[in-house]
Amino acid sequence: MEQFYTIQGEGFNTGRAAYFIRLGGCDVGCHWCDVKESWDAEAHPRQSIDELVAAVLEHPGRNVVITGGEPLMHDLTALTAALQAAGCQTWLETSGAHPLSGSWDWVCVSPKKFKAPLPAVLAAVHELKVVVFNESDFAWAEAHAAQVPAHTRLYLQPEWSRAARVTPAIIDYVKQNPRWQVSLQTHKYLDIP
Ligand code: SF4
Repeated sequence: MEQFYTIQGEGFNTGRAAYFIRLGGCDVGCHWCDVKESWDAEAHPRQSIDELVAAVLEHPGRNVVITGGEPLMHDLTALTAALQAAGCQTWLETSGAHPLSGSWDWVCVSPKKFKAPLPAVLAAVHELKVVVFNESDFAWAEAHAAQVPAHTRLYLQPEWSRAARVTPAIIDYVKQNPRWQVSLQTHKYLDIP
């Protein structure tokens, strides 16, 4: 759908330069989705893996975020193998709602209420990033945290349009439950993609 070189704005890798490849196609159906134009995979041009890798290598950074849409609707085996062979780190941003494919240096799952993450994806996650709309989401976050490996980094992130209202509750929750961390969409504050 689109690709661009920017700074990872949220979660564990916040602040690091990264090349984003946003793949078309998503069937999760979040009503608040801010990339609804990604949903129809056929609405976007196809590119070869060689073209994608060449575009990445035009920039000095070697961290590549594969996002969507829902990237796991595609078999990502060949793309991630080619990126790693070219010396890149492969970072996945997924809802976890489709089977895991590909070879990953970092897997971030952001669960969605409309289509639950698969247990097999949660078992492979390095970072669980839960977007918070209201206080009832903390229990939902804990239910997912109970399904991930012990080493998984746990993040609570205010939904952008609700940030002014829910951020104080997130701060209080993290102070009381310090295995969680706060994640902010710093790219939105910085006004970068
Ligand atoms: S999973 Fe992501 S791309 Fe798909 S509908 Fe939800 S927010 Fe949008």
